Amino acid sequence: MPHSPVPTGPLAERLAAVRARVSAAAADAGRAPDAVRLLVATKTQDASMVLAAVEAGADLLGENRVQELVAKAPALAPHVAAGRVAVHMIGHLQRNKVNQVLGAAGCVESVDSLALALALSERCVRDGRTLDVMVQVNVSGEPSKSGTLPDDGPSLAFDVAALPGLRLTGFMTIGARSDDEQVVRAGFARLREIRDDVASSGRPGTDDARELSMGMSGDLELAVAEGATIVRVGTAVFGPRPTA
Ligand SMILES: *Cc1c(COP(=O)(O)O)cnc(C)c1O
Repeated sequence: MPHSPVPTGPLAERLAAVRARVSAAAADAGRAPDAVRLLVATKTQDASMVLAAVEAGADLLGENRVQELVAKAPALAPHVAAGRVAVHMIGHLQRNKVNQVLGAAGCVESVDSLALALALSERCVRDGRTLDVMVQVNVSGEPSKSGTLPDDGPSLAFDVAALPGLRLTGFMTIGARSDDEQVVRAGFARLREIRDDVASSGRPGTDDARELSMGMSGDLELAVAEGATIVRVGTAVFGPRPTA
C-alpha cells in the first residue's frame, strides 16, 4: 500500500477513544466489551483518509452514497479481499443503483422497501451469490429519515428474509434527533423489540437476524444500553464534516 500522507497518530487516538466509549457503555450495561462492533462511517472522507482509518485498525466501514462507495472501492479492495475490512452500505439506495452496490459492499444495512429487496435478491440470484442485508426502520418517524415505519418493520423483515438471494442479518436505525434521552432510548428499544420478535418468529430466513445497527457519535451510549451490536461513528473519529 502506498504510504498515506495523512498522519495516523491523532486518528488512531480518536479511534481508540471511541472504542473506549463503546466498551465503557457496554460495561455499564453489563454486556461483554466485544459485544458491540464499531463501524466507521466514512462519508465525505477521501480514500486516503479511509485507508488511514484502516491502518489505524478500523475493520468495518460504512458508506452512505453509492458514488462514494464505488469511488473508494478500488483502494479498499485488497483489504476486503484479505478479510481485513468489510464495507457496509448505510445510506438510502435506489433500485437502479443495485448493481454498483453489489460490487462494492458486503452488506446493505439500508433496505427500506420490498421493491429494493426484490431488486437486490434478483441480481444476487442471477450472480449465484447471497448478500447480507438489514432492514432499516425509522423508529422516530421523522420524515427526513429513511426506513420503514416501526409497525411495518416485522412484515418487511419477513418478506426480505424469505427472498432467495438475501440473508437477513438484522436491523438498522438512525436515532431520534432529540435532546430527551428517554425519547432516543425508546426508539432504540423499539428496534430491539422488532429484532426480538422477528428473530424468534421461526419464519423462514429469520434465524440470523441478530444485529442491531444503531447509535452514532452523539448517542452511541444510549444505543449500547439498548442492545446495539454495531454502532456507526463518523464525526467522533474524523472530526466534523464540512457542511454541504
Ligand atoms: C453519517 C452517518 C453516521 C455517523 O454519524 P456521526 O454523527 O458522524 O457519527 C451513522 N449512520 C449513518 C446512516 C450516517 O449517515
